[in-house]
Formats: sequence, structure tokens, C-alpha cells
Amino acid sequence: MSNDTPVTKVRARRLCHDRSMVDSAFVSRLLDVVEHDVVPLTRAGVAAGNKLFGAAILRADDLSLVVAETNNETENPLWHGEVHCLKRFYELPAERRVDTREAVFVATHEPCSLCLSAITWTGFTSFHYLFSHEDSRDAFAIPHDLRILDEVFGGGYRRENAFWTSHSIPALVDELPEPDRAALRERIAGLATTYDQLSATYQGGKGAAGIPLD
Ligand SMILES: [Zn+2]
Repeated sequence: MSNDTPVTKVRARRLCHDRSMVDSAFVSRLLDVVEHDVVPLTRAGVAAGNKLFGAAILRADDLSLVVAETNNETENPLWHGEVHCLKRFYELPAERRVDTREAVFVATHEPCSLCLSAITWTGFTSFHYLFSHEDSRDAFAIPHDLRILDEVFGGGYRRENAFWTSHSIPALVDELPEPDRAALRERIAGLATTYDQLSATYQGGKGAAGIPLD
């Protein structure tokens, strides 16, 4: 991404508004942000007893980082990665914020019902996530997202609706031509290994932090 011109970056973002035309530079930038901006925060958060979920907000024009955050449920069980990121965003001076209708929102894991609502109420028109609700349950031993959707709401959520469109990053990668597809799948596999390690740390130490749904 660093070799791309701002024009290319803008183009990447614009193309990604259309799900049928995905730019590998855009997806690569989202993975960069997860790896270099979110994961370091999450390592510290998990070491302090928090879950491994994180999020970031990027400018639409040059895909630069506005803010990244990680789960902070040990302080408040509502500080999921996404909600905590939005909290920090609104704590920024107004001139450092961006128009949420245009901004890029990336979540490491598919947002839960709380975070879907938070993304809606803060005006985003799309978001991208790396790992699915099923991954959270099966690979990361966090079944609460799907249980809450089933028990409270009677099922799933609408991925395209009047407010926003939900994008799975692996699904976007599947649409890309080779060799980009294979390279980006490899990067995702590397991040999955990183998150497996973070999950082992969290699961090994949970229970004492007072998180209601741990
Ligand atoms: Zn959440």
C-alpha cells in the first residue's frame, strides 16, 4: 500500500463500494491495519484479561488510520472492540474525526448485536470484518454473538439493509483474481494463527475479570 499513490487509494475505496469490484490494495490495507494497529493493542488488552476483539476507523480518501481500539470489558462490559473504538473516536477533537457516512470501519470479528446497533447509530454505511460469528463460536470459544441473535432477536441480521452493508473480508478475497487471492488468503491465515494465540491466552485466564459473558 505504501507504494500506491493517493489516487490509487481513493480508487480502491470507491471500487469497494461495489461488491462486485474489489480492489486487492484496499483489502491489503485493511489487513495491515488489523496486523499493525489493532493486534498490538489487543495483545495488551488480552494480557489484562479482555477479549480479543478489536476495530479501527479509517479515512475514506487515503485509508489512513483515524483510531484503533480493542475490547476493554474489564472496565465496562459494554466496551466491545467496536464500541470502545467508537467511544475513542468521539473523544477525539472534532477536527480529527471524519464523516462516518464515508469512513471505513473494520472489525476483527463480525460485530455482535450491540456493535451492529452502535455502528448503525453512529452513521456508518458499511463495515468490514475478518472473522465471522461462526469463527467466534467455533475457533475462539465465544458463542455469545450467535446466542444473543438467536435468543433475543430470533435469528440472524440483515447484511444489507437501509443503513449499511456488511462485508466479510475473506469473502471479498474470494472474489479477487490470482495471484492476489492466494497472497491475501495467506495473510489471513497468518492473522488466524495470531488470533488463535491470543484466544488461548484469553481462554486460559478468563473467569476472574468479572466479565458477565466471558
Ligand atoms: Zn460487540
